[in-house]
Amino acid sequence: MQLTQGRAFTAPRSAARPAARSVVVRASGAHIPRVNAAAVATTPDWEALAKDMELKSPLEIMDHALKTFGSDVAIAFSGAEDVALIEYAHLTGRPYRVFSLDTGRLNPETYRLFDQVEKHYKIRIEYTFPEAQEVMDLVRNKGLFSFYEDGHGECCRIRKVKPLRKQLKTLRSWITGQRKDQSPGTRTEVPVVQVDPVFEGVDGGAGSLIKYNPLSNMTSAEVWNFLRVMNVPVNSLHNCGYISIGCEPCTRPVLPNQAEREGRWWWEDAAAKECGLHSGNIKKADGTTEERKAERDLWPAEGSAVATLSKEEVRALADGARGAKGTLAVLYAPWCPFCQRMEAAYEELAAQLAGGNVRVAKYQADIDREFCNEKLQLKTFPTIVYLPPNSTQVIKYPSERRDVDTLAMWVKTVAGL
Ligand code: SF4
Repeated sequence: MQLTQGRAFTAPRSAARPAARSVVVRASGAHIPRVNAAAVATTPDWEALAKDMELKSPLEIMDHALKTFGSDVAIAFSGAEDVALIEYAHLTGRPYRVFSLDTGRLNPETYRLFDQVEKHYKIRIEYTFPEAQEVMDLVRNKGLFSFYEDGHGECCRIRKVKPLRKQLKTLRSWITGQRKDQSPGTRTEVPVVQVDPVFEGVDGGAGSLIKYNPLSNMTSAEVWNFLRVMNVPVNSLHNCGYISIGCEPCTRPVLPNQAEREGRWWWEDAAAKECGLHSGNIKKADGTTEERKAERDLWPAEGSAVATLSKEEVRALADGARGAKGTLAVLYAPWCPFCQRMEAAYEELAAQLAGGNVRVAKYQADIDREFCNEKLQLKTFPTIVYLPPNSTQVIKYPSERRDVDTLAMWVKTVAGL
């Protein structure tokens, strides 16, 4: 709730949606006009409006939202770079509201930022919280970190989606910090204004909530230039490599050139790049399972520079009978699409290292899972390990990047080539 007094306007009454009052009087004494019903009634084609406003500045889009919806619109603030939204709202000179979802799992730095933002803008953020009973049921049944085991869906639904849904049911419009460049492939379509495709507003039903995305066309660099120039308080986690900031257990810093959303729920992304040990079974209609069959083997002996390890050789290597050469081995399953996808890169790597001090090999591990699991750190297909010479050590390749350059760089590092 904004305490700064902005320009007030009189909201005309609409026959379609009578407003009980023209202004909302907050406990602080701030007056925030209610929805400008006339403006809403005369602009029912939000798609056309989005096209008209596509080239407008974030400030103009923000102003449109606040002018049109008054106290029935609120900014969703996550505690990250979407603080830019608050700065734009501040610059309009209009009163505005800000809400935030406190999931109970945010970083301490985020709570500190909330406090700084409240003081900087002289506002009170409207915090929403999950239902205590639902959180208790979840953590008592499944523990505090169940999302690492069975995905973030259930926890997010309880701690984020339901409180958000409840908050939005009190509004007619909301303002988000979504941008097109945030996650290539999933956020490329972010209109500057749209009928919310997911949530409902106070009137209920499809089309009852309008979503503004004023930062849609900005790049991350532009947002940061703006924040710097305006000297806006920012989350100190940004100094530690975080870009997208959510709950503490589900957010991590990203490396240069990584998409910022790659720092969220990364373990689920990783799982999508590998086959679980049990995915070799196909479930049949009668409920029974059968072993999945591959159409062909990978790196077939004829014409491949990749050596094929026998069961006996693998056991000897695991026991330390390795001789003077190191062995790079891929533990694979021929039916695994991720193993199939790395076939060319691994073949090229074998050709590059041929005749040197590292033998590049393969072992079909789906028919010897238990042993590979226990002795060679097999967890998913493919698993790549380096077995140093004269040693019992097993060094597991830690990345999901399986291009030839990255693999070669890693082997040369661990093998000291
Ligand atoms: Fe739970 Fe993680 Fe979702 Fe936060 S981001 S609500 S901790 S699963």
